[in-house]
Amino acid sequence: MDSRTFRNAMGRFATGVTIVTTEVGRETHGMTANAFMSVSLDPKLVTISIDHKAKMLEQINQSQQFAVSILSEEQMDVSMHFANQKDCPDAVQFEYISGVPIINNALAAVVCDVEQSFEVGDHTLFIGKVLEIKLTEGNPLAFFEGKYGSYQPV
Ligand code: FAD
Ligand code: NAD
Repeated sequence: MDSRTFRNAMGRFATGVTIVTTEVGRETHGMTANAFMSVSLDPKLVTISIDHKAKMLEQINQSQQFAVSILSEEQMDVSMHFANQKDCPDAVQFEYISGVPIINNALAAVVCDVEQSFEVGDHTLFIGKVLEIKLTEGNPLAFFEGKYGSYQPV
């Protein structure tokens, strides 16, 4: 089985799009991610999966904190910027909760301490204990078969 077939199959799982953010020293780093999952309600835990090639891996290993901002349909440029698909620095605006950066105007953001991490294949799974939540009204940005779109209720 080749990697393209695997990606084509996984790409049929329609997802939202998030930006994972963290801060080391005074330096903020962001990265687009769709491997994001709610894990537990009591305690409140989420997980993200970070490629071992991504700069984000070392940043979270150092800070032991991260935030996940769920993007709105107006924030495709933000996703493209943090995935290195298009340079859109003007689309990027951070705000801070408890000293952790989140994306301004995201639909929702969770701020986490790293509870556990697991190296799995060529990624590391970080389990985050949710410390803070911010919600904003809007519609989600979607990702399906490698393309961005918007969500329509049936
Ligand atoms: P870089 O590639 O260096 O940074 C990413 C971009 O963000 C660069 O353009 C950089 O200039 C910019 N940037 C970073 N910090 C700042 C800042 N403070 N201010 C302004 N700009 C900044 N990869 C995964 O590992 N897991 C996933 O779940 C995942 N999901 C993805 C989902 C989608 C829809 C897409 C398109 C990509 C996904 N990727 C995922 C791939 C990942 O987004 C890219 O490989 C990304 O480039 C990795 O970022 P990096 O940490 O290596 O940093
Ligand atoms: P794509 O066809 O590469 O992605 C479709 C799906 O395949 C993704 O939603 C994800 O579930 C899976 N996938 C892709 N690359 C993966 C990887 N390295 N590890 C684990 N799962 C992966 O879509 P695209 O538009 O070509 O993606 C843009 C870029 O973003 C590509 O370079 C892709 O590798 C990367 N990406 C990485 C992940 C990840 O989890 N590391 C997730 C999505 C996209």
